[in-house]
Amino acid sequence: MHPSAEPIPPGNQAELSYRPIHSKAVWGGVYDCAWFQLHGTIPAGAAGKHVVAHINVGGEAVVYEGTEPQSAITLPMNFMDRLQSGVGKTIIEITKQAEANQDVSLYIDAGYNGYYGYPFGWGIFQYADLCVVDDDLLAYYYDYQCIASLLSVTTDKNERTSLEKHLNESYTLHNSSTEKARAILKPLFDAQPDDSAAFTAIGHSHLDLAWLWPVRETKRKAQRTFANQLTNAGRYPNYVYGASQPWQFEYIKNNAPQQYAALQKMAERGQLELQGGMWVEADTNLASGEALIRQIHYGKEFFRNEFGREMKMCWLPDVFGYNGNLPQILKKSGLPYFMTIKLSWNEHNRFPYRSFKWNGIDGSQVLVHMPPGDDYNSDASPACVRYALNNYTERDLAPEGLLVYGIGDGGGGPGEAHIEMVMRQRSLAGSPRVMPGSAIDFFGNLEQYSEKLPSHNGELYLEKHQGTYTTQAANKAFNRRCEYALQDLEALCTLAWQKGRDYPQDQLDVWWKEVLLYQFHDILPGSSITRVYEESRARYATILSEIDAERTKVMSFLSSGKDESAFNPTSFERHEYLCKDDTWFAADPAPYGFAPLKELPPQTGLVFGVDHIENEHIRVQFSDQGEIISAITKKDGAEYAENQLNTLRLYHDKWLFFNAWDIDWKYYKKPSHKLKSYRHETFIDGPTVVRRNYYKHGRTTLTQDVVLYTDRPIIYFKTNCNYHETFKMLRADFDLAINSPFVTCDIQLGSIERSTGDETDVEKAQFEICAHKYVDLSDGKRGASLLNDSKYGHRVKGNRISLNLLRSPIYPDKKADRGSHSFTYALFLHDGGCGTETLMHSYVLNKPLILANGQIDMPSLVRTDSPAVVVETIKRAHSGDGIILRFYESQGISSICSLETTFSFKDAVETDLMENELGSIEINKLDFTPFEIKTIKLK
Ligand SMILES: [Zn+2]
Repeated sequence: MHPSAEPIPPGNQAELSYRPIHSKAVWGGVYDCAWFQLHGTIPAGAAGKHVVAHINVGGEAVVYEGTEPQSAITLPMNFMDRLQSGVGKTIIEITKQAEANQDVSLYIDAGYNGYYGYPFGWGIFQYADLCVVDDDLLAYYYDYQCIASLLSVTTDKNERTSLEKHLNESYTLHNSSTEKARAILKPLFDAQPDDSAAFTAIGHSHLDLAWLWPVRETKRKAQRTFANQLTNAGRYPNYVYGASQPWQFEYIKNNAPQQYAALQKMAERGQLELQGGMWVEADTNLASGEALIRQIHYGKEFFRNEFGREMKMCWLPDVFGYNGNLPQILKKSGLPYFMTIKLSWNEHNRFPYRSFKWNGIDGSQVLVHMPPGDDYNSDASPACVRYALNNYTERDLAPEGLLVYGIGDGGGGPGEAHIEMVMRQRSLAGSPRVMPGSAIDFFGNLEQYSEKLPSHNGELYLEKHQGTYTTQAANKAFNRRCEYALQDLEALCTLAWQKGRDYPQDQLDVWWKEVLLYQFHDILPGSSITRVYEESRARYATILSEIDAERTKVMSFLSSGKDESAFNPTSFERHEYLCKDDTWFAADPAPYGFAPLKELPPQTGLVFGVDHIENEHIRVQFSDQGEIISAITKKDGAEYAENQLNTLRLYHDKWLFFNAWDIDWKYYKKPSHKLKSYRHETFIDGPTVVRRNYYKHGRTTLTQDVVLYTDRPIIYFKTNCNYHETFKMLRADFDLAINSPFVTCDIQLGSIERSTGDETDVEKAQFEICAHKYVDLSDGKRGASLLNDSKYGHRVKGNRISLNLLRSPIYPDKKADRGSHSFTYALFLHDGGCGTETLMHSYVLNKPLILANGQIDMPSLVRTDSPAVVVETIKRAHSGDGIILRFYESQGISSICSLETTFSFKDAVETDLMENELGSIEINKLDFTPFEIKTIKLK
């Protein structure tokens, strides 16, 4: 045994210094690694027999020959898997026909990843034995298991009696003759199945790219998993296994080329189904619309280039909710099919369908299947199949379902036991027919029933894991900054490219792919271990500084002279104030345009007193504890505070098993602690009047600047917090004098309305909701929008908006959210309903002007004449032969607009989201349907 804290790559394992180890000896702690060198001799008595190695080194492991993984040992991931793992995952095949005194020598690279996946305990070497396999007896064992499982779910008395009789008779015989024992059961495997539904069985090994282990271990998990599945594919010619996430395939490609080539052959034979759609199985509540498009772009591109397959299915079994614009993003990316099981985790209301049509906010439709077994780790036994049959709501409309089976979460996939179960259910007495097959063929078949299937409109809200909108706030803030920084850089690089500079496509790809990796559904949502966040935060900071350096280079390429200018990376006209080296400037850049910095005009409307601040538009009054007790718009004297606004409260955020994931749905009914400012100061700074409030709670300190700019009815809350709580949730509560039955929420490239009621079971279950840059409560005459620069979790019930600022769970990261945070949210008081002004101010908060050390003469790169149509993306076409412009209609109305651009081009064509050309388009008359995303390529 040769231990190490971090993995030692394969290649020189024969040269390592090994020391002896005995059974029950500890070789490492959580995430420790070790190479094992195993020697043995097959005894003469086993000559001619089937010999395997039965190995338990107390961790997961790969058997290596040279630098290539040969086979693997994967342990049960968690207590649920324990029952499912069978015997197959600790067995390494040695020879079907042993020779007497044959030497066996193996090198094994192991890792200890905790007890059933949970990060505690020790890697303890248990045993490494050579064993003879009685293949006939093993086959009988699986026969017996299969019928026993069928018996466990058979309710008909006569059928039960018959099954019991078969089992008893065969068991009596098995000691004298395995053949006769199997012959008794054989008719049951060749009988009349239950034909009310049939199942396509696809092997699966859900691999979280980080969770209770760091990303580096995921790379090894991928190798182990693929080693298992290549072994399975060799043993069972009909076996079909599916895997998604090109990120892991790219790692194998670069580190185990023989294994990669074997996977390519497995795919050619139809035994490996590439399931995809996305670069990683990304969270779809938090990732931006453009990021989700890039997830699909890189995902599809990889499988097309490497495997020659065009993905048509989005495979997100385990993601914590699906936004209302996802159908449009999927459909326009060439993914008409969608698979998840996650809505079966709903805590309060059973999601009613298992096969259905899903209509997004723009009316785009995709076909969805939720495998009715409600599990992507099915053990594939007849008992599981019976559960799936009984649970399949649409089985009369579409009598076919998917069975997704294997060991997952930490990878591994199906073992021998799973596959032996599947192969025995082609024609099992009284049980639905189960056939190995691919998910895409299943979807192609499901299509024929789609007319009859029910429909679901809007988002797929998961009634669980609502804490993931907030946990690991620093990562969420980094993610949003990176998403926008990359988009801003692409716009600037496109302009520079038209002026002759090289477009840094390769570098952009590298940055995007890493940001997309951290959108994996256990990283961005906040449900991984400490190390995952320490590593990803450090990488985010590096990526941002690299982007910044590239942006500076582009700016200096574009600019000339000494006078500074500012770039407006949004689709809106801006009138902005900037503070540089303690001096304030103004700038008025057009959409995606540059403008010189101007001297600040004299300010007259800013006023403050001992308990209030004012600008030309609003007057804000504070209690002596810091919260706002009155916010009045001056033109009409309207009061926006029904009660207090911006009350900072620490709510009890009680321990739940899924601590980082879940918030107690009745948390708001428990007593909370209001933060009271112990000191404040008020001052005018350039175009702003500022009330600075100081708060303290135990070791937690919070300083908040409540800021009014001279020209707008918006109250900004610029917050610095050093947070040291446990099981507490810091929220900002706004009790508005506005009542509305619904709240408008910003989502990916659109918005949705959700109920503010708390009466029905569905309304109660949606006690926390995810929104991006704003939520808005409007009563028709007036409204208030709460904007933010990095937050997602909101509770909006009645007239209260409660913004979730910070949580403090202890599992799986006991340090989650402790430390310093800077963020800004803002309350925009407006007339009428939620409209383009709210959207503009939310973009302005998230996308500040970008300074250039020089003048750039470019009034506007791209603009439209409709405020409802947002220019979201400007980039070079990925193929390099034009410029891509992406727009969306933001208000849910039909719009006709014309496009103005200073880019030179000969031809304009519309493309899908993957930049495939659809046909020419007239840019002077662009027709948008409600919430339509439109992509135009200028050539
Ligand atoms: Zn997962």
